[in-house]
Amino acid sequence: MKSRVLERYERAFAARLGVKGAFAFWKGRVAAYAILKALGVGEGDEVVVPGYTCVMAVNPIVYLGAKPVFVDIEPVTYNIDVALLARSITPRTKCIMAQHTYGYPADMDAIMDIADGKGLPVVEDCCLALGSEYNRRLVGTFGAAAYFSFQWNKPYTSGLGGMAVTGNPELGSRIEALQRESIIPGTKEVMMLAAQLAVYRTLVYPRTTALAQNIFRSLGKAGLVVGSSSSGEFVPVMPDGFFKRMSELQARSGRRQLQALSRNIAHRRRLARLYDDRLRELGWPVPRLSSKADPALVRYPVRVVDKQRALATAAKRFVELGSWFECPLHPIETPMDAYGYHTGMCPEADKASREVVNLPLHPRADEGTVRRSVHFIAGIGPPAPAGGS
Ligand SMILES: *Cc1c(COP(=O)(O)O)cnc(C)c1O
Repeated sequence: MKSRVLERYERAFAARLGVKGAFAFWKGRVAAYAILKALGVGEGDEVVVPGYTCVMAVNPIVYLGAKPVFVDIEPVTYNIDVALLARSITPRTKCIMAQHTYGYPADMDAIMDIADGKGLPVVEDCCLALGSEYNRRLVGTFGAAAYFSFQWNKPYTSGLGGMAVTGNPELGSRIEALQRESIIPGTKEVMMLAAQLAVYRTLVYPRTTALAQNIFRSLGKAGLVVGSSSSGEFVPVMPDGFFKRMSELQARSGRRQLQALSRNIAHRRRLARLYDDRLRELGWPVPRLSSKADPALVRYPVRVVDKQRALATAAKRFVELGSWFECPLHPIETPMDAYGYHTGMCPEADKASREVVNLPLHPRADEGTVRRSVHFIAGIGPPAPAGGS
């Protein structure tokens, strides 16, 4: 039996998005696994993914015995390059993953055209894109299904958490059947998560994030916190206890934040515009987006000439600089060969991994954060223009 607390959160989430069904899981990756399994992805199938993602988005594919087929990205939105997408489809292709990287909507018109032409379902990875719109419609409502994450770095957080959504009742009932068989989180891990959420609320401000992350990391190594990823998840084999549903603690926290979502989205949009304006004033090459896209970015990505120097010096200047994606299958510890990813396969993704850092947009960042961050980024400088030296 599913708890009422979970049901209430699922209903509220589905209503906010305008979809038929939402199903809550322990993490985003678990929601992705449920969707792919419900779509019948299995041994020998191919699943198309952008070659610029988080390994945790690829693991559900390989856990099911399918093969991820990596497609390069285009350099403005860091999303799958639709010109390359059609060519990557083979008779074994079972589905297409459309990730909305950093919150920039993928080119859904082109992706849905290609997918519909081949009769393939599209799964949207909305982990970084809650609130982003494309053609005035929320991302997560275009494909057969979509999933969201509520991990620490996402648009809002319940510590960990994931949601699978679909507008298709038949697919929904298959996901729900899987959820019924899922593991119920244990008391100890839920208590640890509750403690972490409390620490997070008091400790994580832009100036202290690096410090807080270091504390979490050392506690994680000591086995004292529920890490978002254990070292066992950087290999393509499903760990024990993976297929868990969401706890009531997460559902309560998530539902509260869902109620504040419009404010959260407006805040991120306002700060992103400030970053755009301040950087443009300095003559920075800020790219322009398609008029179809109205992103609610999770963090503000920017390319710099020397990412290593930027990362090495940011904390000293109290700038909360993010490093994802560190490599095409984030994080840097991922043995990419084991996933069939080889350097050079996706040149734009390799380049973006070398150049892109990201800046805060979360509720605790403000105009001062933007000013400080832009000042710092201007001191590092943009990459040399293509063709330059
Ligand atoms: C965070 C993230 C995931 C995985 O979410 P978890 O809740 O950590 O499992 C998947 N895809 C993308 C793009 C992400 O950023």
